[in-house]
Amino acid sequence: MFDFFSQSIEYLKGVGPAKAKVLQKEANISTYGDLLEYYPFRYIDRGGFIPVNQIRDDKNYVSLKGKILKTEEKGFGKNKRLIAVFGDGTGQIELVWFSGLKWISPKIKVGAELKVFGKPSIFNHRLNINHPEIEFSDTGSEEQDKSEGGGIQPLYSGTEAMRRHGLSPKVMAGITANLCTQARGSIPEILTPAVVSRYGLFSREDAFIQVHHPLSLQHAECARQRLKFEELLLLQLKIWQSKLKTSKTPGLKFEQVGERFNYFYQHNLGFELTGAQKRVIKEIRADTRTGFQMNRLLQGDVGSGKTIVALMCMLLACDNGFQACLMAPTEILARQHFASISKMLKGMNVRVGLLTGSTATKDRNILLNLLQDGSMDILIGTHALLEDRVAFKNLGIVVIDEQHRFGVQQRAKLWAKNTVSPHILVMTATPIPRTLGMTLYGDLDVSVIDELPPNRKPIKTVHLTDHNRLQLFSFMKDEIAKGRQVYVVYPLIQESENLDLKDLMDGYESISRAFPIPDYQLSIVHGKMRPEDKEFEMNRFKKGETQIMVSTTVIEVGVDVPNASVMVIENSERFGLAQLHQLRGRVGRGAEQSHCILMTADKLSNDARERIDTMVRTNDGFKIAEADLKLRGPGDLQGTRQSGLLSLKIADIVEDENIVKAARYTAIEILEKDPDLHLPENRGLAEELQKNRNANFWAKIS
Ligand code: ADP
Ligand code: MG
Repeated sequence: MFDFFSQSIEYLKGVGPAKAKVLQKEANISTYGDLLEYYPFRYIDRGGFIPVNQIRDDKNYVSLKGKILKTEEKGFGKNKRLIAVFGDGTGQIELVWFSGLKWISPKIKVGAELKVFGKPSIFNHRLNINHPEIEFSDTGSEEQDKSEGGGIQPLYSGTEAMRRHGLSPKVMAGITANLCTQARGSIPEILTPAVVSRYGLFSREDAFIQVHHPLSLQHAECARQRLKFEELLLLQLKIWQSKLKTSKTPGLKFEQVGERFNYFYQHNLGFELTGAQKRVIKEIRADTRTGFQMNRLLQGDVGSGKTIVALMCMLLACDNGFQACLMAPTEILARQHFASISKMLKGMNVRVGLLTGSTATKDRNILLNLLQDGSMDILIGTHALLEDRVAFKNLGIVVIDEQHRFGVQQRAKLWAKNTVSPHILVMTATPIPRTLGMTLYGDLDVSVIDELPPNRKPIKTVHLTDHNRLQLFSFMKDEIAKGRQVYVVYPLIQESENLDLKDLMDGYESISRAFPIPDYQLSIVHGKMRPEDKEFEMNRFKKGETQIMVSTTVIEVGVDVPNASVMVIENSERFGLAQLHQLRGRVGRGAEQSHCILMTADKLSNDARERIDTMVRTNDGFKIAEADLKLRGPGDLQGTRQSGLLSLKIADIVEDENIVKAARYTAIEILEKDPDLHLPENRGLAEELQKNRNANFWAKIS
């Protein structure tokens, strides 16, 4: 059957064999379909030039027309940049390039007439535009500007090689115009009329044509909405199809709430559960009763009390004759869970064990025997739990703490630890924006603890630079005098490990001088230390024997010392937002006012400043996750790397929240009626799914 999308672009008017080759190599475009999905990243409204002196703010993109008045190259090596002063008679603005100078410099000549498109910003009290789009007005006349493209011109991203081979953005626009002419009458609809009309969508054909050559900016927007919806719908269909399959996996039945759960609740809990904790426990109870396997993600901000929820679920398993295990990402954290859980279970008939990489062989063998004969109820540990020789008599539930460090393969290993797969609860404090969660963890049910235990005071966060160090030290002294404890954390990034360690040691020394023995006691913990030594230092700090804990990010996850109320993060510009938020979550666990101090150098990149400002502005993990997603894009988020989300061509998981929701709703609605997409009305969708553009989507998610 004729399929418009699979036609080779070689025969498209304006392309030909040579250009086809370049397009294939540089932009992965070899068919009409590829070219149709080569969406413009922006449109220029050619009538929309504004005078330079009317640039009002630094939020909006502007089109300008004028000439180069002056050029200058500044800096050396990596810092080299080209600055051109651009003016149109009403005012001046600087155009700045940091990269691609080799290509751009020779073109930017004093007197050259250009059209400029970009987002102005203010730097050193001067207006500038970094890396503007530019187009030389060789012809220059107003006439021409108006006649070209009837107003709206699509802008395509392109590589230098494409330009060199005559595929400038303008030529690309010509080629897509030819394609659009061909497309009329060739692109069938794949959505049902009901869905199209419910959301007021463009037809598929109109969408593909108008996204490239819109009649107006509004038409472009409608076209994009339709294409985003379609892309997200296909993704959701894929997710829900596979979810419907896994939710049918037979599972163990936890029929009753028994003695141990109730005893714990009545006698050992020591505080009232928050509403959110209660709700989540109910959700898990309901899940584990159905006879199907539970795969649930528990999201809760740092300090929201996930451990208790995990523990109560493990007790539920025990009450039903099953064993439970809890897996933590680091040895420190496993030990801490073991200590705190053992304490919480005091006086109860529950046997808890600890297994990590450094458990001695003798102890390990005893432990393994207890597991096998069923007399060990709860096993806590690290990756060591995954080993094949760790065999349970009757494992009922697995809790994985700080999920982002575990991959799917590891989850699968745990499934295999019982003939009927145990229930899985993965917990994470790295909040994932909801829309991303809907997409990324489509195969998991999600529970959220969205409430902190009562009486927590919001942490106060400030940003200081190296100039303020004396002020910092005196603040630390005041807090210590009040009986509080302080963390001072240094970055540790693998590639520069030795350098980082030196930073830490230098820092430790200067703190030692400012906080001398015997008035002050310091602890130090870093990755190069033996686990026992780390443990020893952690314990001294925990018991309050030391007042300052100097460390690398090994304390990042999970550490719980309620009396510590000050978190100082050195070189904080080098941390990502998620990590900063995790670190800050180490304080604010007691009733005292807590503080987080972000130390940075004086000069900061824009991104770093945005991260620091975000941290100062909000304590809300979800807001931070959203900011993170905006700054870095989903491809970079922890756990989402290579997840395939990058391959979204037009939709944006964060910005398009409403479309994600609509797509999700529609996908479920379709699958409820037609789980295998066999109905004629869904044939187009089924075929699109077959094309499988995101083939590896699931395999890659961890
Ligand atoms: P996280 O979700 O970061 O793992 P934890 O489970 O470590 O949080 O809990 C943080 C602290 O809050 C712990 O000291 C815990 O005992 C305490 N906590 C948990 N739930 C409550 C509650 N409902 N009321 C008061 N304190 C609580
Ligand atoms: Mg925790």
